[in-house]
Amino acid sequence: MKIYNSLSRKIEEFQPIVPTKVGVYTCGPTVYDYLTIGNWRTYTLGDLLVRTLTFFGYQVTYVMNITDVGHLTGDNLGDADMGDDRMENSAKREGKTAWEVAAFYTNDFLESFSKLNLTQPERFSKATDHIQEQIDLVQAIEKRGFVYRIDDGVYFDTAAYEAVGNRYGELSTLDAIKEGARVQPNPRKKNPRDFALWKFSPERSRRDMEWPSPWGKGFPGWHIECSAMSMKYLGDQFDVHVGGEDLKSTHHPNEIAQSEAATGKKPFVKYWVHGAFLLVDGGRMGKSKGNAYTLLDVTERGFDPMALRYFYFTGHYRSPQNFTWEGLGAAANALNRLRMSVSSFRKAKERSSLSREKLGKLEEYRQRFKAALENDLSVPEALSVVWEVVKSNIPDYDKYDLLLAFDQVLGLKLNEVSEAYGLQEIDLSSLPEDIGKEIQSREDLRKQGKFAEADIVRKRLEEKGFIVEDTPGRTVVKKSVDQ
Ligand code: AMP
Ligand code: ZN
Repeated sequence: MKIYNSLSRKIEEFQPIVPTKVGVYTCGPTVYDYLTIGNWRTYTLGDLLVRTLTFFGYQVTYVMNITDVGHLTGDNLGDADMGDDRMENSAKREGKTAWEVAAFYTNDFLESFSKLNLTQPERFSKATDHIQEQIDLVQAIEKRGFVYRIDDGVYFDTAAYEAVGNRYGELSTLDAIKEGARVQPNPRKKNPRDFALWKFSPERSRRDMEWPSPWGKGFPGWHIECSAMSMKYLGDQFDVHVGGEDLKSTHHPNEIAQSEAATGKKPFVKYWVHGAFLLVDGGRMGKSKGNAYTLLDVTERGFDPMALRYFYFTGHYRSPQNFTWEGLGAAANALNRLRMSVSSFRKAKERSSLSREKLGKLEEYRQRFKAALENDLSVPEALSVVWEVVKSNIPDYDKYDLLLAFDQVLGLKLNEVSEAYGLQEIDLSSLPEDIGKEIQSREDLRKQGKFAEADIVRKRLEEKGFIVEDTPGRTVVKKSVDQ
């Protein structure tokens, strides 16, 4: 298998440290708010990688953290050690403690994680459950002489680290990491690019989350948790580290520096895999723009979470992907057609004897599906093989078998599609609110004689999986369901 390694900036042959076994770590969410569909794109990439490696016979250990402390707002501005604490900000806004905020959003994260059928890691490790490990790691770095203390915390000394022959910031695409942050960094740091390992609680005020440490009461810096927890569960050196492309600039270079400083130059991670961002309507998502959609927004509009999964798979992970509701509608439509096909193939109860030609074809599809994934996880190519199988002339029983095998990687829950899957009339009162509104607006347009406009609404509804039919005297709405 070949995979793009952000560290070498090349596509490389994948060779795990221990043959057949692979350790994968994905940087998890900061649980101060609902996750966006951008975050979910990155977690679906982690899932795709784990499923693919498993499909190829590797024994995968998957670990993902949950950041429930230490992630300050300054990272968006170029200095991750400045700004407010995201958890404490949300606590103030919601009139809760930071602990309550963390529990609430962690719970929501885990529920959505299952809804998207993402592979459960061996463990979800919380930063607040690993404070001692983080302190131990900072002490190990301190012993090597790469730590100094100023009034607001304990910092990693990048210059001291480089002075003894180490390289800092190799992964980063930011030239800025070499000379420092984009905004005015903390002027008391020795070097603008140094970063906090431990931050002190402000004097005369109590934080919801704070712990004693050898340096004083406070909380861990954002980067140290990932080094501490990944090394605890996967070893000082492991195979793959996954995250969104923004983490390539400082979070991941800092993880490398911390880990390699503590272990003494042992290469920390062999392959760094970064996913490009999801855009919305061609631009960056933002809470202020009102387009930072969540999984709840998706399901409230009547979409199945599997449609979002299918949508992600229509793009390659290293290309930015543009989200629009129409695009999601098209994915939902395609998924629906796939489910209809799977349902009908499932009805074929017996394996017929295959001619040599069909047997050859079956094997060719299997090989091409694998080859697509081996080619830097080219899942759009793998999906096109899926459609070729659907349309091919191999017997239905074999199509069903093959599609289910492919679904071990795609995770679209095709095994749950029953023989009864198909269009069924649905009760108008059980429609999601905005679907109901659309149906009403179509009726109104028709009453006004605006048939062309009404038809646009009908098509839009169809993209969301709702088929509208006009029968004498009433409108019937049908949806594909498993009965
Ligand atoms: P955070 O909770 O901010 O630490 O982000 C969690 C993960 O989501 C990180 O790996 C980010 O790189 C990733 N991420 C954030 N925004 C997007 C986006 N628009 N598209 C894809 N991934 C994203
Ligand atoms: Zn991380």
